[in-house]
Amino acid sequence: MARISALVAPTSQELLRLEVLRTERLSPHWMRITLGGGDIARFTALGYDQWFRLFLPHSGDGGDEGLERIPAKANKIFGYLKYLRIPDGVRPVMRNYTVRAHRVVGESGGPEIDVDFVLHGSGPTAGPASRWADAAAPGESVVIIDEGLRFNPARGVENLLLVADETGAPAVAGICASLPSSATGIALVEAPSAEDVLPFDAPAGIEVRWLVRDAAQKPGSLALAELEKLPAPASDTHAFIVGEQSLPTAGRRHLVAQGLGKDQISFIGYWRVGAASPAPKSEQAQPAGGR
Ligand SMILES: Cc1cc2nc3c(=O)[nH]c(=O)nc-3n(C[C@H](O)[C@H](O)[C@H](O)COP(=O)(O)OP(=O)(O)OC[C@H]3O[C@@H](n4cnc5c(N)ncnc54)[C@H](O)[C@@H]3O)c2cc1C
Repeated sequence: MARISALVAPTSQELLRLEVLRTERLSPHWMRITLGGGDIARFTALGYDQWFRLFLPHSGDGGDEGLERIPAKANKIFGYLKYLRIPDGVRPVMRNYTVRAHRVVGESGGPEIDVDFVLHGSGPTAGPASRWADAAAPGESVVIIDEGLRFNPARGVENLLLVADETGAPAVAGICASLPSSATGIALVEAPSAEDVLPFDAPAGIEVRWLVRDAAQKPGSLALAELEKLPAPASDTHAFIVGEQSLPTAGRRHLVAQGLGKDQISFIGYWRVGAASPAPKSEQAQPAGGR
């Protein structure tokens, strides 16, 4: 993977129709869905925290009703307005996910991407993406739009502070897999239970600390508390803070108060307690979760 560079835009934002190739229950709260087939050859992997809009059929019965109606540029304002005109009950669900891993040639014999879904709860409170991942079967169709990277240290910066709740664990793992071996720093990653700690490869100079929450603790609160215990970051540090809205917002405020420049912090609200995604722009730490 290329050395760390400034913000990387996606190579293309066309609609890509993909299929579920395999699913794997990794732990109580993690489901890995491997996507490929269809238009996968047109997907350009960028590594790091590459994320995408994911469109899921509304029906949830394994059919693909509505996917052919997604307009081009549904992730931009005019396309999004057209997307909203698809009737309720047919309009695919749109959510945001991260490329956990990409293989040029996978088990299927072609390119593949892994997406790790947090399974949050059951029944109607779980959210359509979590419910879909829990029950997804090989052969089901989805549509994605590549969104590129949000991790954007200044060129050459290799000292990092990576902070995430479980929804950001795939991004932190992807960043660690893409960093030069000379990178240094700390990764604080929260898990909802000890069984949900999923070790990942990182450069030897990056210390990965998993923080296991108990059920009474708010997601992100443990990572924030651990961040606040760290000494002030060195002036050449770049921080990446993602997860439940309060974590990036409060984490950034803390680091800025410690003297880190605002341009040295990539921070994104990945989700918000009590709000279905995408949350209105006014409620986001940064607009990655919105349009
Ligand atoms: C750039 C980006 C990348 C992301 N990458 C990933 C990824 O790789 N894997 C991943 O799992 N998530 C990822 N997320 C977060 C994911 O998009 C949200 O968790 C999303 O809300 C899940 O959609 P849903 O349909 O399951 O729930 P929604 O319909 O959006 O929400 C329904 C209810 O569930 C709650 N909720 C949503 N997510 C969680 C959660 N994780 N834990 C507990 N309660 C929750 C909401 O507060 C709401 O009350 C990413 C978000 C962004 C912006």
